[in-house]
Amino acid sequence: MNNRTQPPRMRVAVVGGGIMGVTLAYKLSQRDDLDITIYERGGNLGGLAAFMWYDGVRMDRFYHTILSSDLSMQALIQESGVADRLHFTETKQGFFDSGQIYPFNTPIDLMTYPPLNIFQRFRLGLQVLYAQLESDWRKMDNVSVEDWLVKVSGRAVYEKVWKPLLRAKFDTAFTDVPATYIWSRLKRMMGTRQGVTSKEMMCFLENGYYTLIEAMAEQCVQRGVTICVDTAIEQIVIENGRAVGVRTPDGLQPFDVVISTLVSPLLAKLIPDAPEAFQRQLAEQEYLGVLCPVLILKQQLIPYYVLNITDETIPFTGVVETTNLIDPKYVKNYHLVYLPKYVAPDNPMYQWPDDQVKNEWMKHFLKMFPDFDESQIVDFIVQRARYVEPIRPLGTTDQIPHLKTPVEGLYMGNTAMIHPDLGNGDAAARFAYRIIDQVLADLPAWTPQPVPVA
Ligand SMILES: Cc1cc2nc3c(=O)[nH]c(=O)nc-3n(C[C@H](O)[C@H](O)[C@H](O)COP(=O)(O)OP(=O)(O)OC[C@H]3O[C@@H](n4cnc5c(N)ncnc54)[C@H](O)[C@@H]3O)c2cc1C
Repeated sequence: MNNRTQPPRMRVAVVGGGIMGVTLAYKLSQRDDLDITIYERGGNLGGLAAFMWYDGVRMDRFYHTILSSDLSMQALIQESGVADRLHFTETKQGFFDSGQIYPFNTPIDLMTYPPLNIFQRFRLGLQVLYAQLESDWRKMDNVSVEDWLVKVSGRAVYEKVWKPLLRAKFDTAFTDVPATYIWSRLKRMMGTRQGVTSKEMMCFLENGYYTLIEAMAEQCVQRGVTICVDTAIEQIVIENGRAVGVRTPDGLQPFDVVISTLVSPLLAKLIPDAPEAFQRQLAEQEYLGVLCPVLILKQQLIPYYVLNITDETIPFTGVVETTNLIDPKYVKNYHLVYLPKYVAPDNPMYQWPDDQVKNEWMKHFLKMFPDFDESQIVDFIVQRARYVEPIRPLGTTDQIPHLKTPVEGLYMGNTAMIHPDLGNGDAAARFAYRIIDQVLADLPAWTPQPVPVA
């Protein structure tokens, strides 16, 4: 076909190279009428699901599991050709309460959980069942999570079990959280349970989530997608209410469609020419950050994937030993223990230097595990991210921005828009599909735009 008869290809910029951005480019590149470029600020693709190199192996920077119920993610893994590197494992969890560790996996564990009396255990079980039976999330969207949990579980169970779990995810910012959050979480977690024994099955990808991202990125490149890492978008250029390109350190790059996968406050900074109300709406979206040290050990610490901590004096809120899911042979036989703390936007802890985090964390870690032999520690690496868990106060669902923004040709997606599902890799991939449906639905109306002058 010569140039005169070749139809113009629509130029698409995908801003952000996390799971959502790479899934978008991967799926869109299956068409041959699009010219796609991914822009990623970091040195590698992956975003929150990126990796860290340690002793010559790639490990998840933050702990990541794929649940057996994450079917979209598993389909993507299959399609991108890395299914042979996906492994299912039975995992276990426990609770750390008043200096003791208790298993918390089966109905028997629940019915014999020592920190609660028999009546309280029954109410806790009832809450889990109640969440499974409820299918209309809208009923819970205007009820505070505390009210919903106290109503069914009772105050004592709320204080002993639910509040520590909420604190683990929201720091102090959970008073205003709708019940939808815990309902979604219970649904998601129960989806991993198999059979009458309630075994919890999770999966991991050899060398982490990045294995999938890398496979998708390689196929993107084969199909002609341009991937620019180390390239922060400085501005999304808007002219006459329409996105016409992006500004990089190399100048203006013209595009017909721009899809942002950035968290809302970061996108707000890039669109000075968008309607002011829209900029404000994005800028006001609050997020918790995470401080997440990784303890690299020579031996296993606990037999659980996650140990939930109910003691509020301990700065981290869980002990996540991912090598109880991941076979240690994939990480040079190290044992990886993540000690996360989600931090509210006003919590000064987020700014603590690594040494201060290490001292404070280890002080409490050694109190929790008094028999721990410190010679087992190989390393202590502090990872952190500022925008992780969106805070969506009660009754604000109608303020979630639409993926088709008020700026023509500008689409957006991020975890604050995923509702009532939780923000995770599976949901991010599904949200990417929704954006694609919208972009393609708008395609017939698309006409080539004049190239703007830099
Ligand atoms: C501690 C922790 C544990 C988690 N555990 C799990 C788990 O077990 N299972 C699971 O499924 N999910 C888990 N998640 C959630 C999962 O990581 C996220 O839902 C997912 O990675 C979000 O992907 P995303 O593409 O939407 O966003 P991001 O990963 O945030 O990607 C956005 C990208 O945009 C880039 N960017 C920002 N500004 C610019 C700019 N100006 N120009 C260009 N690029 C820019 C960023 O660098 C980033 O790479 C966890 C997250 C954390 C923090």
